[in-house]
Amino acid sequence: MLNNFESEKFESKQEKEKNPKLMFVFDVDGIITNPDTKKPNEKVIEHISSDLKQGFPVALATGRSVAWVEEKIMPTLKTMLKDDRKLDYLLISGEKGSVSVEYIDGKPVKKIDKNIVMPAKITTEAKKIIQPYLDSIFYDKSKETMISIEIKGSEDSEEVKKQKQMLILIAEQLKKIVQDSEFSEFLDVDLTEIAVDVQFKSQGKKLSSRHILGWLKGKNIKPSSYIVVGDSPSDVEAAEEFFHQDYDVTFGYVGTKDLPKQPFKTKTASEFFDKGTVEILDEIVQD
Ligand SMILES: [Mg+2]
Repeated sequence: MLNNFESEKFESKQEKEKNPKLMFVFDVDGIITNPDTKKPNEKVIEHISSDLKQGFPVALATGRSVAWVEEKIMPTLKTMLKDDRKLDYLLISGEKGSVSVEYIDGKPVKKIDKNIVMPAKITTEAKKIIQPYLDSIFYDKSKETMISIEIKGSEDSEEVKKQKQMLILIAEQLKKIVQDSEFSEFLDVDLTEIAVDVQFKSQGKKLSSRHILGWLKGKNIKPSSYIVVGDSPSDVEAAEEFFHQDYDVTFGYVGTKDLPKQPFKTKTASEFFDKGTVEILDEIVQD
């Protein structure tokens, strides 16, 4: 039997878990990983682990495949957590919202948005046109709903520059393929720093935020406010969705490009990318 004091403590822990003061939503590339080395920043993962250990929800909203996140991020996180069941407070929203993984008793459960299926014709064409560039780029085979072509990367900055030029050429050809197809209404070609994606117009960080809110609802967790951390203007969409649904949201921005003024709170750091993220996290301590 719990005495009064213990039962009060128990209730307040439950209360905190159901109504945490805040919830973090992280982009992955450039936030959890360093954009140049692509290596995960252990300090960011430590923060995530600390929130999960206390039963506070955390979400990752990324264009990466869930397989990529499971390979590059999860082993470190699992080691820190020591108990896989704490993963029940984590949601991975991958491929810009179309594939997600949640955990039940520490076991991953994957969900794929059935409305998002890349037409085989586009995939075949894309694989064909990249053939001359395979020294510089690769086709991300782990993606299940979109086409992603990424630069190989290099320690040599001239080589990276060359790879990025190849990527631009590929993006132009992909745009033409999409425009000339019967799918031009539904598909977009998105060129970023290190990759070019062919995706459905409905895919994006907005879709991720909707999934995150649906997942929280299912778990009956109601954070008082949200902090979305991202490094590119497209991450703003994630924060926008929380704002439009009348939630209190702050966008932590650690990218280098100028960000237009937003109707919600924004927060920046003295450093960019994963280091800036650590700075923001050190300032905002969940309790
Ligand atoms: Mg990013």
